[in-house]
Amino acid sequence: MRVLSGIQPTGNLHLGNYLGAIKQWVQMQDANPAGTCLFFLADLHALSQPVVAAELHANTIEMAATLLACGIDPARSVLFNQARVPAHSELAWLLGGTARMGWLNRMTQWKDKAGKSGETQSVDLFTYPVLQAADVLLYKATHVPVGHDQKQHLELARDIATKFNTDFGVELFPLPEPLISKEAPRIMSLRDGTAKMSKSDPSDASRINLVDSDDTIASKVKKAKSDADVLPEAFTDLEQRAEAKNLVTIYAVLAGKTPQEVTADFAGKGFGAFKPALADLAIAVLGPIRDRLTALLDDKAAVSAALAEGAAKANAIAAPTLRAAQAAVGLHV
Ligand code: ATP
Ligand code: MG
Repeated sequence: MRVLSGIQPTGNLHLGNYLGAIKQWVQMQDANPAGTCLFFLADLHALSQPVVAAELHANTIEMAATLLACGIDPARSVLFNQARVPAHSELAWLLGGTARMGWLNRMTQWKDKAGKSGETQSVDLFTYPVLQAADVLLYKATHVPVGHDQKQHLELARDIATKFNTDFGVELFPLPEPLISKEAPRIMSLRDGTAKMSKSDPSDASRINLVDSDDTIASKVKKAKSDADVLPEAFTDLEQRAEAKNLVTIYAVLAGKTPQEVTADFAGKGFGAFKPALADLAIAVLGPIRDRLTALLDDKAAVSAALAEGAAKANAIAAPTLRAAQAAVGLHV
């Protein structure tokens, strides 16, 4: 089994990113033997959208620091940035010869992002799924944790792998399976229980950032939108109360309980009682992460060194696969 997952380097990660994405990685790492998981920062993918060089550079380190602070352990997982492993780009070019325009044209992410303005989009945005296929196939990943939105891209990676193996008569690439976590919670905005917590929300009060101080966390929880009712015994009775449902969900994930256990614990209590408990819990869980993150951001050289070490390990795994692919298509290398 080999697990591979990537995330674009962005700054200012929040509770939703942690609970919905990063924590799943940490659990995957902790549940498997050392060396099973590879995690990378998709800095090459970031180029599919307009970038500010200094921001991309800073965000890559910040994201790596965040992953380390959240519990990704370079002794057990291979953590690296894509750009330091040239084989990603090289294999993507080879796979571009196998992928068909029609396949890429059908990708809903392309259709959504390009909209009516496909002509003005970057070529990288169109060929994004080919690079993604290279990311996965380079390491012969067997399991790829993905969100629902990325499932189609993984199916494309399987199609590319199948066609490559068939066209060149090799059994080089195993077909990767998507791992769609049923547990990954969707965390909603603290200001609007129907909108996703997001770093692009202009209101900072809508999210808890991983760099927020204890006081800021407490005050954001206190000011979070809720309602005047008490909590019911049954979590399912919160269906019409989006904000209440979200706060209970956050509590549950942070406490490692089911939402039903949380409503049972707080049944009959209002938010005057619930919010301070949630604030304490959020500070207990996020405080140590923030402290580690702050320390790492003060020592960016160490973070960069960790990424370089990860890249060396990734290169060692990737090189034979790239060689085999080059040989399969008949390149002199
Ligand atoms: P943007 O608003 O720019 O899209 P974002 O806050 O949605 O930013 P992304 O960088 O798009 O963050 O997502 C990074 C990862 O975090 C993805 O795996 C995504 O599914 C997950 N994620 C983002 N927001 C949430 C959320 N509110 N709840 C759960 N998971 C989330
Ligand atoms: Mg997003």
